[in-house]
This record gives sequence, C-alpha cells and structure tokens, in this order.
Amino acid sequence: MIPPAFDYASPTTVNEALALLGQNPDAKILAGGHSLLPMMKFRLASPALLVDINKVDGLAYIKEEGGWLKIGAMTRESEVDRSALVKQKYPLLADTARVIADPIVRNWATVGGNLAHADPANDHPATMLAYGARLVAAGPGGTREIAIGDFFVGPFTTPLEHNEILTEIRIPAHKAGDGGAYLKIERKVGDYATAAVAVQINVDSKGRCMSAGIGLTNVGLTPIRTAKAAGLLVGSSLDDATVKAAANAAAEAAEPSADNRGSEDYKRSLVRTLTTRALKTAVERAKAG
Ligand SMILES: Cc1cc2nc3c(=O)[nH]c(=O)nc-3n(C[C@H](O)[C@H](O)[C@H](O)COP(=O)(O)OP(=O)(O)OC[C@H]3O[C@@H](n4cnc5c(N)ncnc54)[C@H](O)[C@@H]3O)c2cc1C
Repeated sequence: MIPPAFDYASPTTVNEALALLGQNPDAKILAGGHSLLPMMKFRLASPALLVDINKVDGLAYIKEEGGWLKIGAMTRESEVDRSALVKQKYPLLADTARVIADPIVRNWATVGGNLAHADPANDHPATMLAYGARLVAAGPGGTREIAIGDFFVGPFTTPLEHNEILTEIRIPAHKAGDGGAYLKIERKVGDYATAAVAVQINVDSKGRCMSAGIGLTNVGLTPIRTAKAAGLLVGSSLDDATVKAAANAAAEAAEPSADNRGSEDYKRSLVRTLTTRALKTAVERAKAG
C-alpha cells in the first residue's frame, strides 16, 4: 500500500526539530519508522509532515551515569542487543532487545520509538515498568521527567505533547542483588508477543526479596504493571508458595482479549507460567551477581 503524500524535514538538532513540530500541528516524528510507516501505508496515520530525527546528534548512547543506565531515545535495538554493558549488568533489558522483531527491524527500530508508540504489544514498555524507569522529554520550555508508571495512559497514548521529543530513558543503575528476566511467547520468531512477562528483583545476602517489579506485554489495552504481584514478593524469601501466589496475582491483573493468538484463558495461563519461570531465572541471576 502507498501512504498519502507528506512533506519531509530532516533537522540536525533537537531545537530545530522542536521548532518544526511547533509550527506544524499535523507533523509526526520519524525515528526508526518501523511502526509509523506501516501505519501510514495502511492509512491509519496521515501526517502532513514527517520530522525525521535520525540526523539529530547526541540521541544515541548507552551509558551509566549518576546512578542510572541512560539510553538515548534514538538508540537502535541492535545496539542494545550488542551492548556488553547491557549483557553484563541488565539481563532483563538484554532479554528484551533480543526478542524484539527480527534482526532487520532491530537495525532501525529505536528504544524511544518503541516506548513513544505505546503499543501494548511492544516489548520495552513492560520491561521499563518492571525496572521503574524514568523518561526524559524535551519541549519548547525545556526538559521534563516522566515516571514510566504515568506514561502509558491508553492504547497508543502517552502524556507526550505534540511538540515534545522523548530524548532519554533512565533505568536505575545495577546494584548488588539485582536480577531480572523477560520471557515471551510468540507464534513464530519475529512476531509480537502472544503474552510476555518482565521481572526485576533485588535480593539481599540472605536471599530475601528487597524490591520487585513485574510488567506484562500484550494482555491488555496498555502495558500492565502488576503492583499486587510484586508486593507479594517483597520481604519474602521467594519460596515456591510466594512465587505461586505472585504468578496467580499477575494472571489476575492481565486483561487479555481473545484473538487469533489465543483465548483469554490461554493468555492468562501464559502469564502465570511465564511469571513463575521469569522469577526463577531472575532469582538465579540475582544470586549469581
Ligand atoms: C515486522 C515487525 C515486527 C515487529 N515486532 C516487534 C516485536 O516483536 N516487539 C516490539 O516491541 N516491537 C516490534 N515491532 C515494532 C518495532 O520495534 C518498532 O520499530 C517500534 O515499536 C517503534 O520504533 P521506531 O523507532 O521504529 O519508531 P517510529 O515507527 O519511527 O515511530 C513510532 C511512533 O513513535 C513516535 N516517536 C518515535 N520516536 C519518538 C521520540 N523520540 N519522541 C517522541 N515520539 C517519538 C513517532 O512519531 C510515531 O508516532 C515490529 C515491527 C515490525 C515492522
């Protein structure tokens, strides 16, 4: 399918991009284009102007700084996937990048685009919910930080204003006792999740759970953070009974719809099983340091 006609601009600074967005209420930001261009081809989106931010300097990086892992919004999935730092210290993020789409999509798709698109089927949202990430957005009045828990306000809807650009994702820096895992069931390699679960925990030297975050992919109209399931884990020794109770709570928090990927019951059952398995892996990783 052919998209409707549109104008195109390729700014080289964030300020230039912001000015273009401010002057054109029907403009849209183009990052990797792997969600936006398909929508335009299906005529589900018809922006009058594409503001391509691929040539904007300084938006692609992965670095630890000031107690955070900072990821530039234009960082490609393939860069996350190849990052030694991510592999070594952020296994939940490494697991996630590895299962997003296929290598060709990952070469273009960006972490910022994945979050800003707010597709409940995308994989990063649940992971960032489990990490308790913070997002930095630049706008005409400067920058502001948005807690990830406030970011997914509806299907494909975020609090980002039309003239704001997501510039950075901040994940709490790795500390001793951290462990995480992302488990996804897909119909075939490269597909969106039938269901997926992100788990991030911290355990003390005695194996007691000090903090926990659990996020769910594609089992609701938005990505879901299951505070109740995570709350059951905190303070426990992550024994089988507690893990089972948390997995049941995660399944209850899911709000799936039946479609050609499976029935509601099947998807809830996937959430239960994936939560149990992801917690087991997260505990092993936390204990292995
Ligand atoms: C075949 C295929 C399979 C896929 N499978 C998966 C999968 O399994 N899991 C998964 O998570 N994703 C999957 N995707 C989606 C892919 O990861 C997308 O590329 C991603 O969701 C969007 O990132 P992007 O950089 O391509 O953004 P774009 O498509 O360029 O933009 C998406 C939206 O976000 C906005 N936007 C982009 N960047 C910013 C920014 N910095 N600030 C503000 N707004 C911004 C755009 O205006 C647009 O509305 C798949 C895509 C394809 C084509």
